[in-house]
Amino acid sequence: MKKIFLLLMLIVFICCGCGKKNDEIYSNDLHTIIKRDKLIVGVKTDTYPFGYKDKQGRYMGYDPALGRLIAKGLLGDEKKIEFVPVTTSDRIMKLYSGDVDMLIATMTITPKRKDLIMFSKPYHVAGQAILVKKGSLIKNIQDLKEKKVAIVFGSTSEQSIRLAVPGVKIIGCKTYPAALQQLKSGKVDAIVSDDTILIGMALRDKSVDLLPKRYSKEPYGVALRKGPESEDLLTAVNNVIDIETHNGHLKKIKASFGIK
Ligand code: GLU
Repeated sequence: MKKIFLLLMLIVFICCGCGKKNDEIYSNDLHTIIKRDKLIVGVKTDTYPFGYKDKQGRYMGYDPALGRLIAKGLLGDEKKIEFVPVTTSDRIMKLYSGDVDMLIATMTITPKRKDLIMFSKPYHVAGQAILVKKGSLIKNIQDLKEKKVAIVFGSTSEQSIRLAVPGVKIIGCKTYPAALQQLKSGKVDAIVSDDTILIGMALRDKSVDLLPKRYSKEPYGVALRKGPESEDLLTAVNNVIDIETHNGHLKKIKASFGIK
């Protein structure tokens, strides 16, 4: 049923023109970007150190850095990029409305998402983990039974925690800072999300602890609209990921943000 809904949504987006002019609908996305001479990328701002803004309001983190490398690869200049803030729950909508050319937004490649989205090869692999208040008696996923757990709407943990812990009470949040606030104020007992995001919270806030176990593999991919118009762009993005992996750039960028 869900698959049919996703397919219908895709057809509606295409028929409505995705917010683009008619002649652009079936055009080649890579050509559109080259003609525009600017890449438009959706990134997160609430997931330090993958996607956040510094005090000057600049987009920072591993995801925007990868975006700049892709802009350089496609257009010869890493400055030919515009970032659009997205959240976990609105990112797919922003991709299909045509607001962005691609998402680089801590987005896990899953079989279900592949029905709707074309993913690049993975550029990082995260794992789901649990964040608790310091001194909490929760030590592993079984301890979450009958407990209140914060998740962010639209994330992979929203699904997985329901399956992994029957009887868990899920509190949905719109953003990661909102989830952290719920934990700090005692309204929830834990947050379940990717270790990459939870590490960022634990590094900046000494009142919370990241538990050591990982409960999934979350390969992150650059997300493109699904369809033949994205084929050339996908090849180009994969080329950039290959080149920047082999020349060691991606590793250096990860290290500069303290990502392992
Ligand atoms: N990687 C997970 C996902 O794609 C969680 C991270 C996020 O909320 O962006 O759902």
